[in-house]
This record gives sequence, structure tokens and C-alpha cells, in this order.
Amino acid sequence: MNYDTENIFAKILRGEIPCEKIYEDAYILSFKDITPQAKTHVLIIPKDPYIDIADFLQNADSQYQSCFWQSVNKIIDHLNLRSKGFQMKAHKGKDGGQEVFHFHLHLLSNN
Ligand code: 5GP
Repeated sequence: MNYDTENIFAKILRGEIPCEKIYEDAYILSFKDITPQAKTHVLIIPKDPYIDIADFLQNADSQYQSCFWQSVNKIIDHLNLRSKGFQMKAHKGKDGGQEVFHFHLHLLSNN
């Protein structure tokens, strides 16, 4: 499977579709999920084009992966979730429930 540059998150990254932005830096964009499954439900996506978490872990270089996770860490503080409970998950492939084929993390909390 090749990365589809017309997927919805690629369009959000290009500014072609609006989003409710939570946080952005050089490596990631985070925005509210359009269909929230919890009080807080944000999506965290790398700016570079990876299809899913397995693609990211296999093909992103270690520096980019490190920067990505450091940015995720900042979002945990940005949302004031460090001392609270949250879920973080990634769907991989149709069988894993993935609908949008640009790697994303779901960050959910009812706090
Ligand atoms: P997946 O099942 O691929 O892990 O999750 C995709 C998520 O993207 C879903 O939770 C869905 O609600 C969200 N989503 C789909 N289209 C849009 C959109 O246009 N904007 C935003 N903010 N979220 C979207």
C-alpha cells in the first residue's frame, strides 16, 4: 500500500480542511477528533507521511521518532493529563479498525 496524499489528514496538514488545533510544532499536529469518544479526544499526527504506526516505526529515522514522542509528551502536559488517567491508541490497517491512512494516535480522557 502506498501513502495516499489525498487522505483527510494530509488535507488537514495542507490546510485544505479545517481542524480544531490543539498543538503544533515542527514534527506533529494535534487536533480534536470530529467524533469524540470521550470528554477529551484528540488526534496526534506526524507531519511526515506515514501510513500507520507500523510504517512509522519501521521507516521513520530514529531522530524523527524521538522528536515525535517528545512532542507527544508535550501534549500530555498541554492538556494537563500527566497526573490524570488517559488512553492512547493507534489503529493499524483495516483489520485493526483504521479508517484514515495517515498514522495517528488517539489520546482520550474523561478527566
Ligand atoms: P481511525 O479509525 O483511522 O484510527 O480513526 C480516524 C479518526 O479520525 C476517527 O476517530 C474519526 O472520527 C476522525 N476523523 C475522520 N475525519 C475527520 C476530520 O475530517 N476531522 C477530524 N478532526 N477528525 C476526523
